[in-house]
Amino acid sequence: LRLIDTNEQPGEEKFQWSLRPDKLSDYIGQKDLLTRLGISIKAAKKRGEPIDHVLLYGPPGLGKTTLAHIISNEMSSNIICTSGPAIERSGDLMGILTNLQYADVLFIDEIHRLPRPVEEFLYSAMEDFKIDFVVDKGPFAKTIKVNIKHFTLVGATTRAGLLSSPLRDRFGILHHVDFYSTEELGEIVKRSSSILNVPVDEKGALEIARRSRGTPRIANRLLRRVRDYAEVIGDGSINEEIAIKSLGLEGIDPEGLDGMDKSYLKTIIENYQGGPVGIEAIAATLNEEVDTLQDMVEPFLLKTGYISRSPSGRRVTHKAYQHLGDSGILIQSS
Ligand code: ADP
Repeated sequence: LRLIDTNEQPGEEKFQWSLRPDKLSDYIGQKDLLTRLGISIKAAKKRGEPIDHVLLYGPPGLGKTTLAHIISNEMSSNIICTSGPAIERSGDLMGILTNLQYADVLFIDEIHRLPRPVEEFLYSAMEDFKIDFVVDKGPFAKTIKVNIKHFTLVGATTRAGLLSSPLRDRFGILHHVDFYSTEELGEIVKRSSSILNVPVDEKGALEIARRSRGTPRIANRLLRRVRDYAEVIGDGSINEEIAIKSLGLEGIDPEGLDGMDKSYLKTIIENYQGGPVGIEAIAATLNEEVDTLQDMVEPFLLKTGYISRSPSGRRVTHKAYQHLGDSGILIQSS
């Protein structure tokens, strides 16, 4: 059902990494979050203490991992990166925690996927910087408290609501990372182009930005494709015409909707008369996981007003009918 291949090209992770800002002042957008973080970092430095635990939630590709690295850079500490599904047992987490140095940043991506016993083990580590160490087995088992260094946990998740409240309550800073505006993404494209030494003009940068689904990771990915096109077809520099032609060739929608977005909208229109329809039914028709739709597809469509959500389900809006009709994707739409 995917209309375009959204799979990442080989070397994509390395490419994205090379474009990652490493200082707060290089991070574009998310103004409120940056202000709050900037204050926490300054205050912590003044007191000579690590900063509070930080929970970042929002769709993938919006800069949560990047922020965790920035926090550790700004605090001149180390960062240790892991993810919820990678930590299977409390023992794995104990190994990580006991090796942390004072003020280190421990970044746990997809923190909502930590197994429950591991999550519970984390509570006292976050709160008192102590962990329960069980020695011996069976009737001789004893628990001793072991001190660990004062560290900062940075957790990332797609939705804050996925976290249990005891875990959520242990973060001092909770912040939603939101989609970027076209102007902000344009700045990101210009910044990335200058790192890559690719000349890009204002309109070219904005054209890429508009089609990036509000997401820096996608903006960088599209820039890479347009750069190839510009090098082969043009003189290597990017302008509006080059951007439009090359992204059109890639099947990238002028409004940034990707193949999955369009399949999702088409499913509601063609199979459920435009809604309202429950997420389970849409997922079953698309043969996708409910979580994937909720985390990766719906936030952008809601934000941009292509769908609306009510207790009775999802409904496609007039804007979506119009856009799909204009792009020739919907024939005989209502
Ligand atoms: P997440 O952890 O939310 O999935 P990442 O931090 O991995 O997102 O971001 C993906 C890429 O997007 C990064 O490698 C970086 O190049 C770019 N990026 C993200 N946020 C920004 C930003 N605010 N300014 C500039 N580039 C950004």
